Amino acid sequence: CGIVGYIGERQAAPILLDGLEKLEYRGYDSSGIAVCNGGKIDMVKAKGRLKVVSEMTHDGATLPGTIGIGHTRWATHGEPSDVNAHPHMNKDGSIVVVHNGIIENYLKLKNRLIEKGYEFISDTDTEVVAHMLDNYYDGNPLRTIAKVMHRMEGSYALGIIFNDHPDELYAVRKDSPLIVGKAEDGNLIASDVPAILKYTRDVYFIENEEIVKLTEDNIEFFNVDEEPIEKKSVKIDWDV
Ligand code: GLU
Repeated sequence: CGIVGYIGERQAAPILLDGLEKLEYRGYDSSGIAVCNGGKIDMVKAKGRLKVVSEMTHDGATLPGTIGIGHTRWATHGEPSDVNAHPHMNKDGSIVVVHNGIIENYLKLKNRLIEKGYEFISDTDTEVVAHMLDNYYDGNPLRTIAKVMHRMEGSYALGIIFNDHPDELYAVRKDSPLIVGKAEDGNLIASDVPAILKYTRDVYFIENEEIVKLTEDNIEFFNVDEEPIEKKSVKIDWDV
């Protein structure tokens, strides 16, 4: 029900937990975070309040890494459980995804992936996204994400990390909210403005079917044909 992401100079995990806390008002039944540290992705997730993940990670302290994604879940497909909590990974843990929304054609996609030999460990619609990214991945994250978007029906805001591109964070949306924030020491994604206000007031509102590539000091926007697009940031002048 809420996603956050950070890429920058600071340790990501505490920023992710802090952002998720600000999204608590949206309601959720489980939460989780994943960070990429030198090409290795570590993930902690659990059913229940955000407090559970905060305690498991000592408020994020046990998870080094300056790039990461976080999620609070409102279960639509698969009961609230540790396994169904986000993030979700591909089989070898090299691609990690958080998702808000519903992949309407997930059963069709899931069956096709199972025929190809993919194994599913959760009951979520989201896990198909991780395996689809794996299936189409050719070393080019942008092209792969666009390919997967062409095949997905439904609503999604996604945060995605590829461990072989450890200095990049990707995000995309269709019919689920997503914003991007440009801060002094890094860049952020979130479902809603309150999650990032502590770090920046420079915000981009992402439109349907736009893809965002964030690095520590740069933000690029693309359409689903992988063409660069120009976007203007908005100064947020209100407080929460
Ligand atoms: N449909 C996904 C799930 O059930 C995401 C739910 C959400 O938006 O939190 O896991």
